[in-house]
Amino acid sequence: MLFKLKIIYYWLLFKMRGPYSDRKGLKAHQQRELKKFAKKVLINSPFYKSYCQNETVLWDAMPEITKTEFMANFNSINTCNMTIEEAMPFALAAEKNRSFKNEINGVTIGLSTGTSGKRGLFLVSENERAQWVALVMSRVIKPRLFQKQKIAFFLRANSNLYASVSSSLFEFRYFDIFQPIDKLLIELNDFAPQIIAAQPSVLMDIAQAQQSGHIMVWPNQIISFAEVLHQKDKEFIESQLPARITEVYQCTEGFLGVSCEYGTLHLNEDFIHIEKDWIDEDTFYPIITDFSRSSQPIVKYKLNDVLQVKKKPCSCGSQLLALEKIIGRDDDVLNFNTQKIYPDLIARRIAITCNHFYNYTISQVKSDLLEVQIECNEIDYDTLQIQFKEVISNLLQELGVRGVEIDCRRDIVRVSGNKLRKIICKI
Ligand SMILES: [Zn+2]
Repeated sequence: MLFKLKIIYYWLLFKMRGPYSDRKGLKAHQQRELKKFAKKVLINSPFYKSYCQNETVLWDAMPEITKTEFMANFNSINTCNMTIEEAMPFALAAEKNRSFKNEINGVTIGLSTGTSGKRGLFLVSENERAQWVALVMSRVIKPRLFQKQKIAFFLRANSNLYASVSSSLFEFRYFDIFQPIDKLLIELNDFAPQIIAAQPSVLMDIAQAQQSGHIMVWPNQIISFAEVLHQKDKEFIESQLPARITEVYQCTEGFLGVSCEYGTLHLNEDFIHIEKDWIDEDTFYPIITDFSRSSQPIVKYKLNDVLQVKKKPCSCGSQLLALEKIIGRDDDVLNFNTQKIYPDLIARRIAITCNHFYNYTISQVKSDLLEVQIECNEIDYDTLQIQFKEVISNLLQELGVRGVEIDCRRDIVRVSGNKLRKIICKI
């Protein structure tokens, strides 16, 4: 019960926040929150403590970090006295056994892969979970009074974070994308949800099944997350399902943004301070400081995603930064006759088993041939090659796909344009 009260508390708190009539008001709010964050949270982080002396916070002196430095300093960054030595085996075991009781001392421990494909760890306390749910409720899912809403959530794995949305307002069902899509579609049809949340590639499958008359669902909201939602896919999904798509920009590092009623993605700048590392005049890498986090501070953390700023202001009037699109996160689905394999599944397996690489790509060049490029030190290649082959062939076997050849080579992974693609389908 305490957890639900916490959700209501945060929900009310967030309702009182904004909207801001101008950027100045928003900036002032950020400065106040950043100060509080330093005083309450950073002071408890061995890594950041020395930057917060008396009343002064040395923001400029704090290092800009990426996932690599973040993981290298995991033990001193977090405020829960958690070490990577205890947390990583725990998270890996939970993932391998597909067990989701992944808590130590009330802190949820999760494994992340992200755009880079590299293994990461995230910590979420109960308070942070309640805040996340409250934010999702106020920004994404609109609770309807006196009507319980059924939510179908397509995910690679369940997690405490997402399961906590279940309440008297929502009935939440989790659809494991590891299962064959045909089976999931039948279950979806029977469940008859008001809300469907899935990555665009799964939404496309649902829309196609609806078009062919295989299923008939009537959601009043569709939520897209995890991958880039392309305009033509968006149009097709909305033409087949009787609801508009809300696009959520969420990653391990935080809930970064959500689309408004005009379909524009706005960043949650009232929770996250965002600096821009410009690539050209309208695209940038975001460097985020999330002042709503407490167990694992995210400070001046550079993400791999490339964001493109919207040139014209959005008609909704929000002062939160409007994006034209997210570039990157653009992995493909692999196709083996009737079996599809979602990129998230492969990336996850690779991250669990393999560690000492810089980058990789897996390209499907024929229906029965996968080419794997691994960028790594020469010394690590032999082991990595064996691991990659084993992970991929085990996954194919589990999904009933046979006779696929896997070719590995050590190579510099070429990234064309700004796209960060790990899993590519060339057929
Ligand atoms: Zn807008």
